[in-house]
Amino acid sequence: MHRDDEDIVELFVDSEDIDDLDASDLDEDLDEGFDPAEDDEQGQLTFSLDDDADEEEDTISAALAPGTPLVLFQRSHQHSTYLPTVISDGIHKHSGRVSIGVVAPLPRMTPEGIRRFFSKVEHVPVRIADPEAFARLDSFGDTLSVQRGGKPYIGPSTSKHWSYITDELPLGGTSAWVEQVVETQRSVGASVILTPGVWADSADSIRSLNTIRQHARWTHEACDEDEKVIVNITAPSSWLSTPSLRDRLLDELVDMDDNTFYLRLRWPLLAQPYGQPLDAKILDGYAEICNVLDENDKALILPNTGITGWVALAWGAHGFSTGVGTGERAFADTRVIRIKNRPRREPTRRTFVTPILHVTDVPTADRFNALPEVEECHCKFCRALRELPRGQFNKDLAGGHYLKNALDLTAEVTRHARGRRVAARQIVRDARGLVEAAKDRVPLVDNNNPRHLQLWSDRLR
Ligand SMILES: [Zn+2]
Repeated sequence: MHRDDEDIVELFVDSEDIDDLDASDLDEDLDEGFDPAEDDEQGQLTFSLDDDADEEEDTISAALAPGTPLVLFQRSHQHSTYLPTVISDGIHKHSGRVSIGVVAPLPRMTPEGIRRFFSKVEHVPVRIADPEAFARLDSFGDTLSVQRGGKPYIGPSTSKHWSYITDELPLGGTSAWVEQVVETQRSVGASVILTPGVWADSADSIRSLNTIRQHARWTHEACDEDEKVIVNITAPSSWLSTPSLRDRLLDELVDMDDNTFYLRLRWPLLAQPYGQPLDAKILDGYAEICNVLDENDKALILPNTGITGWVALAWGAHGFSTGVGTGERAFADTRVIRIKNRPRREPTRRTFVTPILHVTDVPTADRFNALPEVEECHCKFCRALRELPRGQFNKDLAGGHYLKNALDLTAEVTRHARGRRVAARQIVRDARGLVEAAKDRVPLVDNNNPRHLQLWSDRLR
């Protein structure tokens, strides 16, 4: 052992950048267990509705049917105090234009934690308890652990509650196990049922596709007729970037009787903290798969895609999920970095700059927002942020601002008479125009540079 070892901290990050550490974010977000102190009254709703079961069923069907886009908010471990507020405000403001749902990462929460979360958002019809079966150690869990420096994706404090994650399982699973996954989702109050979503390895594509189909079949068998089933797929992004794999996947999804898919792809390490994928092949893959499923009247939901999920609405995606933490905004490879513990650097503060569709550091965001042609965000979270004593910052408020704007941007793409694609094209074009016009006054370089805008523009023609 090196004698300086105690001065070194190991962190894991999902971006290539090493000089500008925002590493603590990811570490906190995926920490084991939830802090009960966080569940205070601040974000709680002051009203609740008695659900009429039939009415809820209709609302769920409507939210999953192609047409009105669906925004899913995933509960993060920290800083999601204002999630219920964003949701109730959003329902009032965007009713009819956007459907809203919530996602709890099932095996990374306790049963009590999930029930408490769902009770705070009980008026939201689409409540998903994502089984995340890809995180089993015989699926993708081992790799996840390695990418996290040996720290398990599902820690022992929560995994002990979920035997479907830890039980031994023969290759391909069993109908009894799939039934257990279904029952577990029901037991915590999920209103729609996901198939398990084990890792669909692209190296063994035929078997992976068979498993997707078999698990969907078993899930339907385990469900009542009135329960809504979503086919849950977690897979490497090579399924999108390799044309032959993409075609095989598309053929399978189009051929299946199911109409709602929840497709989560593992992105390569991001180039920027809170960044977007910048691989043209992956984006081409998204554009094609969204378009084909849309044309076949199938609803494609892209979990953990953040603002990339938003632009995919223009290509034909039905919905996307995001959240406050970087792990909720992107399902991307992570890597371990080692940094000196002392003196411990203050992590860079970052926030979403809506007019340029990008997360920058806070000083840059402030300078950008102060430009005469930029309208300052007037949301309640930004107003509260501005009222903080000078030099202070609050991640919960910045998170509320991001979620609210992701929702508003979604509503905005539904407003154009010529459709979502034209609407998104205009928003992205305006963002690029603003960056260009401001380049001498507020140069956006390195992590502040919204490099994805050009790639998006090219795919919105
Ligand atoms: Zn704001």
